[in-house]
Amino acid sequence: MVNENMKKLGQERSAIREIFEYGNARANEIGRENVFDFSLGNPNVPAPDCVREEIEKLLVKVPAQRLHGYTSAAGAPEVRNAVADYIRAAFGVSARADLIYMTCGAAASLSIVLHALCEEGDEFVIVTPCFPEYRVFIEAAGGRVTEARANEAFHLDLAALDRAVGTRTKGVLINSPNNPTGVVYGEEEICALAELLKRKSAEKGAPVVLIADEPYRELTYGARVPYLPKYYADTIVCYSFSKSLSLAGERIGYISVSPACAGAEDLFAAVCGAGRSLGYVCAPALFQRVCAACLGKSSSLRAYEENRDLLYNALTEYGFSCIRPDGAFYLFIKSPEEDAAAFCARAKAYELLLVPSDSFGIKGYVRISYCVSKQMIERALPAFLKLANEYKK
Ligand code: PLP
Repeated sequence: MVNENMKKLGQERSAIREIFEYGNARANEIGRENVFDFSLGNPNVPAPDCVREEIEKLLVKVPAQRLHGYTSAAGAPEVRNAVADYIRAAFGVSARADLIYMTCGAAASLSIVLHALCEEGDEFVIVTPCFPEYRVFIEAAGGRVTEARANEAFHLDLAALDRAVGTRTKGVLINSPNNPTGVVYGEEEICALAELLKRKSAEKGAPVVLIADEPYRELTYGARVPYLPKYYADTIVCYSFSKSLSLAGERIGYISVSPACAGAEDLFAAVCGAGRSLGYVCAPALFQRVCAACLGKSSSLRAYEENRDLLYNALTEYGFSCIRPDGAFYLFIKSPEEDAAAFCARAKAYELLLVPSDSFGIKGYVRISYCVSKQMIERALPAFLKLANEYKK
């Protein structure tokens, strides 16, 4: 009757969404202020003023029929031009409007790119822990997933990547600033990764494509994020405005195929074909234009940084162990008991909703999403302290 794989995916909601839905139901029972929901990466900082200003300007300036009508499948030409101009100016690399494809956020960007690249027998390497949907997207595109564990500090483990990347590897997918660890990969490790991929491509006789998943690019607290096409020619950037402009629900982002990619035009044609076959054509028209006017801007990061400091300092003082995140808005703490799901169940008794690391591809950790109000964190801290004390008994 139906595709069993799709039915299974639909029935098994992601662990994160499951907890989020539980939080909503619980809020109805005991009041929103009594539930400490740290599950979802839904930005709580308002979009910067330029978003509202541009929406208002567009509503007045552009006739409704044009404003809300279809754009070209790959996006409005003036938007693609603006994105390419921005990339050239901001990162000092070449970029071409005819290699930019506007999409519905990073999720669509990744799905399109994976479908564009994947041929029978292809493998894609992911660095674990990682965003759980990578596996879903890769398998839906017909690819096989190969995992390379990050090192102890959650940075790239070059030896693990060396083992994982083989002659069947079509692409390596990395994400920095990282969800769920908050780690930002530095220039040295990116250079080492580029060298490794060049060597692997030479051994394979075809490029191993680097797929850069960048929904958190601007969300750093001082750390610099190397722009990957600068270091490795065969790079495709999957960018999203979901987090940088707090527009997660508007579903807007872009794919940028680096002009330095081998066969860049063919690659882009495949991106267009994948977009067409998946029905991801003509990304939301109003928000394409809004984002074109807000390139390089971001929501205020101060609140996230304050939340990071507040939570990190308190939780480490209570005895939890975790690395101090340099970017994104997640804290990845070590579970004080081996079974992270059991720890999350204990946390739930204090109305603390945390996500166990199993769905991120490793065991024994818990993700705490701190894109929430500072007041909620302050209210939650006594609960975290009680939870910590349980493990000291
Ligand atoms: N990639 C990572 C690492 C994410 O954390 C997310 C969302 O949380 C996505 C991709 C999907 O982002 P978008 O909302 O732009 O589709």
